[in-house]
Formats: sequence, structure tokens, C-alpha cells
Amino acid sequence: MADKEHYKLLYKTSHLLTSFPVVVVGDSGVGKTNVAGRFVNDQFNSDTKATICVEFTHSEVTLKDGTNVKIQIWDTAGQERFRALARGYYRGAAGALIVFDVTKLNTFDNVESWLRELRDFTEGPLTIMMVGNKCDLTQHREVSTEQAIAFSEENELMYIETSALMGDNIREAFNQLVQGIYEANTKGKM
Ligand code: GDP
Repeated sequence: MADKEHYKLLYKTSHLLTSFPVVVVGDSGVGKTNVAGRFVNDQFNSDTKATICVEFTHSEVTLKDGTNVKIQIWDTAGQERFRALARGYYRGAAGALIVFDVTKLNTFDNVESWLRELRDFTEGPLTIMMVGNKCDLTQHREVSTEQAIAFSEENELMYIETSALMGDNIREAFNQLVQGIYEANTKGKM
């Protein structure tokens, strides 16, 4: 790419390169805090307290082209009473993780309402990754991979299965989401 074009692109995407805001939503107890904690600090805490409204953390992701981007992660409360407050944080989001627990069918059924809520309360394009967490609990599965993939395809979501406990696919979930945000925001500008 010619230098001039390269700088034009950098200028257009500079706000994104500074920081990508990402919200983490889903029912209470699905593992949102541990998914974020595993990614940011490589830690798992089996005794996390329920999130009150929103907790903020940040980290960095390396894109396929080698660019490092910062991400702000807003870990929201799943409980109904905090949802109205948490919605305020959706507005500026560029990406979202909708987490459900593969061992609890109702948390998967509720993905639809989280999706509606995100789409109602965000402004601008939103890249969404659906995350089936606790995939280490294979004996207790209530949601099959095929079922989740079919839903993600119908709703144009990315999908990944993770275990915050084992650390499986956690980095991939954030890397793929951020790569998706970057591509969605630079499409047609190259
Ligand atoms: P949140 O309410 O969605 O933020 O969920 P938490 O991160 O607080 O986790 C809720 C419970 O699920 C805790 O007891 C965690 O130990 C447990 N948990 C979270 N992620 C996993 C996982 O990947 N595997 C297993 N087995 N348990 C998990």
C-alpha cells in the first residue's frame, strides 16, 4: 500500500487502534468474570463475588498483521436488577462477548434476549462472539456444539467454546473478536 493510503487508513482507524471497548454479557454464573480474569491475568477464581453493575479491566491483543491493539473490557452483571445500569455501557461498545454455560440450557436460551438487548442499546456496528463456557464439564453438557453453531449462523455471530477453568480457547475468543472488530471497521477503507 502506498504510504499516503497507509496513513489515511491509520487515521481513519486511529480511534480503534487506541482502544477497543468490549462488553461481556450473559446470565449470572456462566463464568463472565472468570473468562475475563483468565484472559487478563491468567487467573481463575472459583469464589468470585457477583459483579455489581460493571467492572472494568483492560488488556492487549495482537492482530494477524502484527498490530497490537488495546482493549477495554466491561464485565457486566448478569442479574436483572443491575441490567438497566449496565446497558449504559453498551452504547460505546465495538464488540461483545455473550457468554452462556454449556451445562445450563436456560443460559443458552437466554442468549437471544442478550442479543436483542445489545442490538437495541448499542450504536454503530457491533461485532459479537457467542461463548459457550465450562466446556470442561463434558458429562454435564446440556447444549451441543452443533446446536450452538446453528444458532450462531442464523444470527450472524462468531462462536467459540471455552473453559475459563482450564484456560482453553480464552485467548482465541478475545483475539478472534478483536480481529473481527478491526475487519468490520476497516472494510471498504483499504
Ligand atoms: P459470572 O457471574 O458470569 O461472572 O460467573 P463467574 O465467573 O463468577 O463464575 C461462576 C461460577 O462458575 C464460579 O463458581 C466459577 O468457579 C465457575 N466457572 C466459571 N468458569 C468455569 C469453567 O470454565 N469451568 C468450570 N468448571 N467452572 C467455571
